[in-house]
Amino acid sequence: MFKANKNFLNLQGSYLFSTIAKKVQTFTEEHPDARIIRLGIGDVTQPLVPAVIDALHGAVDEMAHKETFHGYSPDLGYDFLRNAIAGEYKGRGCDVAADEIFVSDGAKSDSGNIQEIFSEDARVAVCDPVYPVYTDSNVMAGRSGEFDPATQQYKNIIYMPCTEENNFAPDFPKETPDIIYLCFPNNPTGAAITKDRLQGWVDYANKVGAVILYDAAYEAYITDPALPHSIYECEGARTCAIEIRSFSKNAGFTGVRLGFTVVPKDLVDADGVRMYDLWARRHGTKFNGAPYIVQKAGAAVYTKEGQEQIRKQVGYYQKNARTIYDGLKNAGYTVYGGVNAPYIWLKTPDGLTSWEYFDRLLSEVNVVGTPGSGFGPHGEHFFRLTAFGSYENTVEAVNRIVHM
Ligand SMILES: *Cc1c(COP(=O)(O)O)cnc(C)c1O
Repeated sequence: MFKANKNFLNLQGSYLFSTIAKKVQTFTEEHPDARIIRLGIGDVTQPLVPAVIDALHGAVDEMAHKETFHGYSPDLGYDFLRNAIAGEYKGRGCDVAADEIFVSDGAKSDSGNIQEIFSEDARVAVCDPVYPVYTDSNVMAGRSGEFDPATQQYKNIIYMPCTEENNFAPDFPKETPDIIYLCFPNNPTGAAITKDRLQGWVDYANKVGAVILYDAAYEAYITDPALPHSIYECEGARTCAIEIRSFSKNAGFTGVRLGFTVVPKDLVDADGVRMYDLWARRHGTKFNGAPYIVQKAGAAVYTKEGQEQIRKQVGYYQKNARTIYDGLKNAGYTVYGGVNAPYIWLKTPDGLTSWEYFDRLLSEVNVVGTPGSGFGPHGEHFFRLTAFGSYENTVEAVNRIVHM
């Protein structure tokens, strides 16, 4: 008789978003006239910019003619897109070659799949609170050990608390990890990391022989010119870091699907195995390339017009973030994030738990957000609001909250 991969049974139910949906549904049934504003969503709401739409239309038309039709794309991505991405890295002073860029269908796939090229017994370190994909993909692969309900943590995973004390950028863990997941600007805390602290992580990883998996899905939201957009702005990152990027939050590709991962050729394991070769092999075996149409749309993001248009769109969300941040801060809330990220991480007032505050916002002012405790134990007593709604709704929601 066949056997299932029992590691999956070790996964903890992701009750966060289903519990939110249920609570909102119950409330709506009881209060059909309430006008609910949702600031819990992690999805963009603005349409694709004109440069992207034009590229999509153009590529669709190409597919209609024998002479310009495109079948399977190269496994690792079309050169026109990889060169455009490499150009952006060069502009930032990063040493990343076009052929070290692996185009994919998004950062979720890449951040979930990348663990496959590491040994089964690799020790994994994640932030607490955290984007759940990093942990869950390692649970499925059998690296986590059992879940301990008392601590709400997996036994073999190293947790790095992100707190007010460390500005939500973790300190080096006591136990030495092999794989370190970092995400800056951060989801859910909205925190950014300074160049110095990121350099510290790169130095640490090189010293202990660990690899950093750096999720930079929100780099487009950085407003402080001193902050690093890429881990390759740090010296020595080519021997210890893999960077994962997405077109979702900067260009609205959440429903189009496109991302990429950088694996430098200098990244080798303890036995001299090049991680670049393993990821190329993994990609070639399990992925048949992102669609031509979508890669053309992705290249349009890197044109002059595309850049101007997406800057404006990100600016729209940044204005929402600022509105929430300033509004709550002026009303006496303790707020974090929001400046270099589309997420505001607020401390719940009156010592309320994250869920108590959720219930209060929903019932008293009909605003929906995300309880911080859903992202990990250190998210307790925090609450996430997102900047991805409309400006009008954002203003209205902030008004309601501050007059609660
Ligand atoms: C939204 C998000 C992603 C998602 O990326 P896709 O490219 O849409 O798959 C990756 N990482 C983090 C931390 C995110 O919040």
